[in-house]
Amino acid sequence: MVQPYKHEPFTDFTIEENKKAFEEALKQVKEELGQHHDLLIDGDRIRTDNTITSTNPADTKQVVGTVSKANEDLAEKAVQSAATAFEDWRKWDPRARAELLFRAAHIIRRRKHEFSAYLVYEVGKPWKEADADTAEAIDFLEYYGRQMIELKEGKPVESRPGEQNRYIYTSTGVAVVIPPWNLAFAIMAGTTVAPLVTGSTVVMKPASNSPVIAAKFVEVLEEAGLPKGVLNFVPGSGGEVGDYLVDHPKTALISFTGSRDVGTRIIKRASEIQEGQNHLKQVIAEMGGKDTVVVDKEANIETAVDAIIVSAFGFSGQKCSSGSRAVVHEDVYDEVLEKVKERAEQLTVGNASEENVYMGPVVDQGAYDKIMSYMEVGKEEGRLVTGGKGDDSKGYFIEPTVFADLAPDSRMQQEEIFGPVVCFTKARNFDEAIDIANNTEYGLTGAVISDNREHLEKAKYDFHVGNLYFNRNCTGAIVGYQPFGGFKMSGTDSKAGGPDYLALHMQAKTISEMF
Ligand code: NAP
Repeated sequence: MVQPYKHEPFTDFTIEENKKAFEEALKQVKEELGQHHDLLIDGDRIRTDNTITSTNPADTKQVVGTVSKANEDLAEKAVQSAATAFEDWRKWDPRARAELLFRAAHIIRRRKHEFSAYLVYEVGKPWKEADADTAEAIDFLEYYGRQMIELKEGKPVESRPGEQNRYIYTSTGVAVVIPPWNLAFAIMAGTTVAPLVTGSTVVMKPASNSPVIAAKFVEVLEEAGLPKGVLNFVPGSGGEVGDYLVDHPKTALISFTGSRDVGTRIIKRASEIQEGQNHLKQVIAEMGGKDTVVVDKEANIETAVDAIIVSAFGFSGQKCSSGSRAVVHEDVYDEVLEKVKERAEQLTVGNASEENVYMGPVVDQGAYDKIMSYMEVGKEEGRLVTGGKGDDSKGYFIEPTVFADLAPDSRMQQEEIFGPVVCFTKARNFDEAIDIANNTEYGLTGAVISDNREHLEKAKYDFHVGNLYFNRNCTGAIVGYQPFGGFKMSGTDSKAGGPDYLALHMQAKTISEMF
């Protein structure tokens, strides 16, 4: 029997021993920084002249590592290798595939702080966020392994006398996995192992901002015993390698997580039938968000303030689930706004590889410039309450920023800024608050802070988001506890870390025999 699933506990850094252990891991990883990581195709390490350099967004001169960069020829080799390996891998006992995931989870658990330290350096995560990212990666391995064991026999269907019917799940083929940089470990690992454990083979193109943590994870899967060709690792430009992999006639499944624009482009391209292609491509596309915390007039104000702060400023607002909008009942608007301002001004911002700050940098120059340009839009459309300044002299640091009095249809309340910026809009009553919360093209997460039971009931039906939270923040979904995925332009609602996720990577087959 496999132990029942439980999520990986988070590390309490207020305990001196844990703090010391993490500082030690940061020191050790610092000594390893700058290493080179090759591509992995058909079990062979391949070094290319072209490379991607990953740097620390909190200290842009610090090189975290370099990775070889694939081109179309190498992407072609990777797909062919995955297609060949599929014939054998799909026939592995699903339980054996699951056990490989459990082994990988143990390897990561033993070196947990090391992986989290890499996340601190590579994407500027504060310790708590890095620790949660690593914990979630472990959770995906443990959860999907167990789910595959459950799915192994298929699902029950009826049979008549003299007849036996079965309904089983079969492997799909070559899966192209394209993750984002923000949950650089968890989403990359989760979207890779989901197809793997179902018997598909994978070509993984990591995000160009976080290829080193992906290379470290590929090493873990090799150590756990993954046969050659089953996982191929091809860092490269989204435009060149990404498009090539998506278009390839042998690609059977695409699992993408990232922005709305890239996701919709992938959905469109994947629907075009290529020469030699004799199947339809399955696409899982989890995309952006513009998520709202609604505060009712009958609400615990401290809970509301806490929910807004955590949702808006955790990982500098760079989560698809970040609560970048606060829609507050007019009776409590001024009070909530004032308290959020006070709390935002107390948050620490800095380099998490040097000290345990609340907020690190944003991920790169492009993100910094984009977020800073929204500061100007915010000043035109609303009122700057606090923050608004940035400093990119050493790393990409931006102050926790609060804007007030924005119209529901303003750019600030409609566009995904993906930075430490929260925008307040006043609502006259609860119905209007829910209407405002719904008026974006996204539908990923949302929170309602209310002590009014009828209002919570209304929100259950009318607040149109994939992950709805009551009296808490709208971030931090846990694998197996709060399956994650959004409505509307936020994606295909695949519900990562949920009971239906693996089946989306498989093809259900009915077998009927007469005796
Ligand atoms: P992104 O720019 O869309 O990139 C995501 C991935 O797509 C990267 O690996 C990127 O490669 C690749 N890519 C870029 N162009 C491509 C193309 N033409 N064909 C194929 N792949 C291509 O998104 P991001 O900046 O990494 O991540 C932030 C976004 O992800 C936000 O919108 C956020 O809301 C969303 N997100 C959603 C979820 C969810 O579960 N709904 C979770 C996390 C993040 P390069 O890095 O090489 O460009």
